[in-house]
Amino acid sequence: MTYIDPSPLKSADTHPAMLGSLLPPSGVLPLNFSPGPASLAAEVQAAIKALFDSERMCSMYLSHRSPEFLDILTSAVKHCRLAMNIPEDYEILFMHGGGHGQFAAVPLNLCPNGDEKATYLVNGTWSKRALSDASKYCRPFVVSSENQDGTFTRNPSFEHLDPESKYVHLCSNETVNGIELHQLPKLGIKAPLVVDASSDFSTKPIDWVGCNVGILYACASKNIGHPGLTLCVVRKDLMGSPSKFCPGVLCYTTNAREGNLWNTIATFNVEVVNIFMQWMIAQGGVHEMERRAIAKSDLLYSVIDKSEGFYATPIADPSIRSRMNIPFDVAGGDEETTRNFLIQGWERGIVGLRTLTPFGVGKYLRASLYNGVSMNQVEVLAAFMTEFLKTCRTQQ
Ligand SMILES: *Cc1c(COP(=O)(O)O)cnc(C)c1O
Repeated sequence: MTYIDPSPLKSADTHPAMLGSLLPPSGVLPLNFSPGPASLAAEVQAAIKALFDSERMCSMYLSHRSPEFLDILTSAVKHCRLAMNIPEDYEILFMHGGGHGQFAAVPLNLCPNGDEKATYLVNGTWSKRALSDASKYCRPFVVSSENQDGTFTRNPSFEHLDPESKYVHLCSNETVNGIELHQLPKLGIKAPLVVDASSDFSTKPIDWVGCNVGILYACASKNIGHPGLTLCVVRKDLMGSPSKFCPGVLCYTTNAREGNLWNTIATFNVEVVNIFMQWMIAQGGVHEMERRAIAKSDLLYSVIDKSEGFYATPIADPSIRSRMNIPFDVAGGDEETTRNFLIQGWERGIVGLRTLTPFGVGKYLRASLYNGVSMNQVEVLAAFMTEFLKTCRTQQ
């Protein structure tokens, strides 16, 4: 993607819809399609609100070493394990520092000397950023699918990996580019997989053992909670020899040994993740989350594909199209039409389609359909897109 300079959305256009506002006109319910932080399901939000009215003190102000919080923590670990079928030989860690913290944490934990080799599969902006930070702490072997113009529209080959790698890092859903691995690959080398699942964790099952997953990390703010907590699932045999420069807060060995309480854990965030996981299990678990993700994204892609080019998504191959983040342009990116689209959507409460990323505004709008976005909300967006297209056609 050729990213536009993010400096305050470039023009003097101060319409809230053009500034990326998430607040629709007063009285209109927001439908939040933002790439994150994202909304949580209405039931999850209601359960969070109820925490403040309950007799028991809310985890927001519970000491992390109190018996009451320890119950919450134990319950959260249990429900994560149950919801995502995580085997017992993996630790579940609630860490700080977001996805970005893990870009450094992975090599700092797995490469004690700092010059070990690690393969980085790069299929979008996030895996590229992970590579860039990891380069300080290991010797990366890079397999990238970046096009000459800087865009990403496919996955790199999974055949040519460095067999001496300590691990193979990949991103299972490229949030900005809209490329997803609907299943993790089974690689031909011994090295364990390290997965950045920040934007798709909990939306499809994971074959932990079959795919040789060594580490999986996900910042909470897209699918399972809110910013401030990073879930890390770490296979126990990979612990025990971090670099001597690995800070304690990023060290898997230290955090596992201390039962997630080496320093002050994000208490409230843990409780939110616990509520989310229980909600997910009650809804039918990960298979149901996957079914919904497929149904929601199918609906939007079909509107795009049937529009005869009025809407276009950069990813042609349906087998790698993201179910979470759907980039699309309107009338070939025509400025006036895109502006009308955003403003009319905003008037209906549709927000979050045009946002800033660390990589700029981008050529494409993007609809993000995380767990907190209901089928009903996607239907509203799809209906609006169809109606907008019709209106534009009759005006021609
Ligand atoms: C959002 C995101 C990140 C960054 O997470 P932070 O919590 O902002 O550090 C990393 N990787 C992917 C795939 C993401 O979508």
